[in-house]
This record gives sequence, structure tokens and C-alpha cells, in this order.
Amino acid sequence: MPPHEEATEPQSRLEFALTTIRMGAPAKYLLALLVALLALGLRMAVLPVEAGLAFLIFYPSTAVVALLCGLRPSVLYIAVSALTGTYIFLPPAWGFSADKLLPSCAYVLSASTILLVIYFYQRRVARQTQVLTREMVARESTAVALRHTLDQHDKLEHAFRQTFEQAAVGLAHVSLKGHWLRINQKLCDIVAYNRDELLNMTFQDITFPADLDADLAFVMQMLSGEIDHYTMEKRYLRKGGGIVWVNLTVSMVRRVDGSPDYFIAVIEEISRRKNAEEALALSEQKFSMAFSANPAAIALTRVEDGLFVEVNETWVELSGYTREESIGQSGRAMHIWPTPERAAEFTQSLRDRGTVRGWEQSFNKKNGEIYIAQLSAQLLRVGGEDHVLSTLVDITASKHAEQEIRNLNASLERRVMERTEKLERINHDLDDFAYIASHDLKEPLRGLHNYASFLQEDYAEKLDDEGKRYLERMQRLVERLSALIDGLLSYSRLGSTDLPQEPVALDQVLDEVLEDLRVFLKEKNVTLVRESTLPTVVCNAMWVREVFQNLITNAAKYNDKDDKRIEIGTRGGANPVLCVRDNGIGIAPQHEDTIFRIFKRLHEQNKFGGGTGAGLTIVKKIIERHGGRIWLESQLGEGTSFCFTLHGDT
Ligand code: ADP
Repeated sequence: MPPHEEATEPQSRLEFALTTIRMGAPAKYLLALLVALLALGLRMAVLPVEAGLAFLIFYPSTAVVALLCGLRPSVLYIAVSALTGTYIFLPPAWGFSADKLLPSCAYVLSASTILLVIYFYQRRVARQTQVLTREMVARESTAVALRHTLDQHDKLEHAFRQTFEQAAVGLAHVSLKGHWLRINQKLCDIVAYNRDELLNMTFQDITFPADLDADLAFVMQMLSGEIDHYTMEKRYLRKGGGIVWVNLTVSMVRRVDGSPDYFIAVIEEISRRKNAEEALALSEQKFSMAFSANPAAIALTRVEDGLFVEVNETWVELSGYTREESIGQSGRAMHIWPTPERAAEFTQSLRDRGTVRGWEQSFNKKNGEIYIAQLSAQLLRVGGEDHVLSTLVDITASKHAEQEIRNLNASLERRVMERTEKLERINHDLDDFAYIASHDLKEPLRGLHNYASFLQEDYAEKLDDEGKRYLERMQRLVERLSALIDGLLSYSRLGSTDLPQEPVALDQVLDEVLEDLRVFLKEKNVTLVRESTLPTVVCNAMWVREVFQNLITNAAKYNDKDDKRIEIGTRGGANPVLCVRDNGIGIAPQHEDTIFRIFKRLHEQNKFGGGTGAGLTIVKKIIERHGGRIWLESQLGEGTSFCFTLHGDT
């Protein structure tokens, strides 16, 4: 209730008491007249008119009127009572005379005296009452104000307690030595200590050691009066391990005499913000490292005016322009582009696609040198503006190396071609020479053979046994030499003749070969197995016939088994592999290549039916002239497979 309302009640009661005495003026006059009439009536009723004591009743009435009606109505009363009393009761009754003047004046005087006594007494009482009333009112007001103040204080105390306890930040009162004096729940939550534990500790106990000195330095400054508050970011050690980042604001409360009393600390947890800041700083650091230490030259250009906004170290090294020279300049103004058209093409390409990837582009350095770079660029929005992020990888060295390799390759190719031509010429010449030589050798050899035959036929009886043996031996050598020369002739002819090719059914070729060898194979007691039908292949039928003939003859010849067996078949698809397999004597691994050399034989002349050692060489040459290849797979004592293709592998 407001104070003025409380004060109204006693005041109105007092006023009521006063108003019962102080009526309105007309009423008072009326009352005075009424009392005068009553006194008159009473006097007449009590005593006969002529009984004397005219004013006996009027004195007490005067006192009553003075008390009730105040000064002026009382004067009226005295006047009325004096006139009526004098007229009626003073002898001679019922009339005026000069004799009545004196007693009448005496009455007026005495009544006036009573009136004045009562009047002054009343004034005094009224004044005292007024003072008392004022005092009472003042006391009442003071009491009300005091009650109000106490009430306000209670409310403030309650509000403060509520605010302190329910604040969203940690709040504490801390002694000058660092003891926690008063703490709220939020602070307990932040540092994970309960209230009792924390109140037995100091802020130094839970401050992260690395942050303590800075905090204490601020405290000293506050105590010395240099500052009146401070704010810092620091770490507290949480109970049970771990740290928590807080934003601490401290101010100081002083006593009335100005000396420091205690600190007020406001502690706001900022771990999340701090972690985010740290993550951001780390990512910025990573980005800036990736930018500045990138082995590729990187430049950021503003689209609006084409000016460089940022360049990295590699850019500076590559272009020859310092960072200061580059930033705020445009590539065109620095003449880094070889032609303005190329720069325009780059801009257009970026506009169309928003990106450029792996352009090989030459650029001018500051010193006029030219470098070649692989240029990639990307449109980006940075700080609300369009930018181009360009990366340049210097490929000058590799381009030069590439060119050098190309030059080398070209010269190598030229030289190989020259050599090949030369070799082909030599081979051709050699083939010609071998052909001519062997052809020419055949003539005297034939003569030699003829003369040896003549000797045997015509002079046989003149020769003793030893002479005959020599002659036979000579004939055999001549025959052998002739066979060798035939081989050489075939071989050289193969090099110099054309090899027309057409689709040939190999099954048919094989049929003809087997027909030719039928007697030979029968004599050798060979079982021949044709595993599969052979394909039709583009080749020279005559020479492929030679190949089959040679391989099948060898397979039958170089076989010491009783049940000789030859298998002929194919492997593979598009470029078929043809194989002639035997269960003969096999070939040792170290001879797998040498047996293809001309005249190379692995046995004594007479063993396995003899031979010249030219067969496999010719076979290899035929196959290679078709573009194919030949190889063997063999197990000594168990057999050999000769496999070949007639075309190159695709
Ligand atoms: P030739 O049969 O006239 O001696 P080739 O050039 O045909 O000459 O063969 C060379 C050598 O390879 C032969 O002397 C023989 O030792 C060996 N040879 C060839 N074919 C076979 C085979 N199928 N099995 C074992 N050895 C072989």
C-alpha cells in the first residue's frame, strides 16, 4: 500500500474529532442562540423570574457555548443572554432600566472572562494538538517509509539472489587473496566442482598454469588502482581432467573508506567458440600454407578489373615479378600474355564454362624470357566479388625435354631406316652372293662327283681296297657338300624371291605333305594324329608346305622310341598357333635357340639318318617372312613341340 494511503486513516480520525467541536459557522451561531434560549427557559423553569440570581444558569452555559461554538458565537450568546437576562430577570422584571446596567455589565464582563479563558485554553490545546498531530503523521510516514524500504530491500535481496543463482554465466565473489567467497551454480557446472569443494579453493588452484601469470598481473593492477576492471580469455582446469576456456571479467568492490574489499568475477564459458576459432585458425593456416608453399604458381585475380589480389611464392619465382609489383596490377598491363588475343580467349573460355583445365600456354617473364605452363583456372566468389583462381605449373623443362625426345626419336628413326635399308641391301647382296656362289659351286661339284663315279666304274679293279674306301668317302663328301650347297641355295633363294600370299586351307597342304611322306613315315613306323582340323590362313602355300615337311620329317627322324607318335594340331583363335608334337629324343634347353642357326646339328653326321642342319633355319626364315614366329617346348628324352604362327600377334 502506498505510504500516503496508510497515513490517511489516523489523520481522518483526528480530523473527525476536531470537526465534532468545530462545526460550520451558521450552526455555531445557531447553537449559541439555542443554548441561550435553553438557559433562559431553564432559568425560568428552575426559579421564579423575580427570585434574583438572574445570570446563575448563564455562566455554565457560557462555558458550554465557548467550548462548543468558539469566540464569535459565544460573544453573540453573551450579548443575547445579557439582554434577555437583564430584561427578564433583573428587577424590575420584564423591562429595562438604568439600574440594570451595572449588574448587566458585570455579567457581560464575567461571562466574557469565562469566554476568554476558555478561548485561550482551547487555542493552546488546539496548537498542542496540531503539533502532536503533525508529529504523529510524521511518525506514521516514517514508519510507512521504513516498512517500504525494508520491503524493497527484501525484494532486492531476493532479486539479487535469484539473478546471481540463475545467471547464464558463472558469477563469483572472490576474496583479495583469491578464495571463492560466493559462487553460483553455473560456475560449478563450468569447472565441474561442487559448491563446497570450490568454496574451499582459490581461483589460482583451478587456473591453467600457463594463464595464471597474466591473471595475477591483472589482479595486481586492480589492487594498485591502475585499472578498475579487466577482461581476459583463460583456461580453468576442470575437476577430473580436461580444460575449459572462459571469458573472465573482473571488477572490484571497495569499502566505504575506499580500500579494496573483494572482487566480482563474471565467467562465461567459451570452449565451443574457442574450439571453433582454433579450428578456423588451423584451417586458415593450412589454406595459407597450401597457398603460399604450393609448388604450382597461384594467383587470385578480381574479375571486375582483372587486377591481381593475391599471388604466391611460386608465382613470384616463375613470373619474376615481386608480390608488391603484382598485386594491384593486371596480367595484361604486365604483358605476361604472349598476345592480347590469347588473353581474351582465356577470359571468354572462363566466362563460357566457369573453368579452364590444363591449357598449355606460354607466358612472358618480367625479364622477357618465355616459360611454358599448364594453366588451370576457376571462377570463385570471394568477399561478395567474382574472382579467378589461376594455377600455373611450369612445364618448360618437360616441354623442352619432350621436344628433345621427339627430335631424338626422329633422328633415331631416320638412322634405323638408313641402317635397315643398308642391312636389307647387304642381306640382298649376301643372298645374291650365296646364290651365285652356291650355284657356281654346284658346277665343279657335279664334275667332281662325275669324275669320282668314272673312277669307280672304270678304274675300280686298279684300286686296292684302301683306294676304293677313299673314293667312296670322297663321293659321300661330295654328296654331302652338294646337299649343303642345296640347303644354302634354298635359303638364299628364299631371301631374294617374292612370297605371294593368298588364303590357303592348311588341312589341304598337310594332306599333300603326308601323302609325300607316307612311305617314309611308314618305314619309321610312326603313328600320326591330326588333333583338329587346320584353319585357312593367308600365306604362301608352297613355302608353308616346306615348313610342315621339315617339321614332320624331323619329328619322325629324331625319335628313338618303338611307338613313335606325331600329333598335329592348333591352339588359339584369331591368330592360330600350329603345333607339331613328337615323343622323340627332346632338345636340351641350351640348344633351343642354336638349332635354328644354319648347318647347326646336335648329332654326329651319321646318327638319326644324317642331315645338313639347314632345315630349321629355312623353316624359321619362311615363318618370319610371313610375319610369324616359331618356338619350341621340349623335355629331354620325352619329346618336342614345334609351334609357329604365320602372322604377327595383333
Ligand atoms: P637336319 O635335320 O638336317 O640335321 P635341321 O635344321 O632340320 O637339320 O635340324 C637341326 C638339328 O636340330 C638337328 O640336327 C637335330 O639335332 C635337331 N632337331 C631337329 N628337330 C628335332 C626334333 N624333332 N627332335 C629332336 N631334335 C631335333
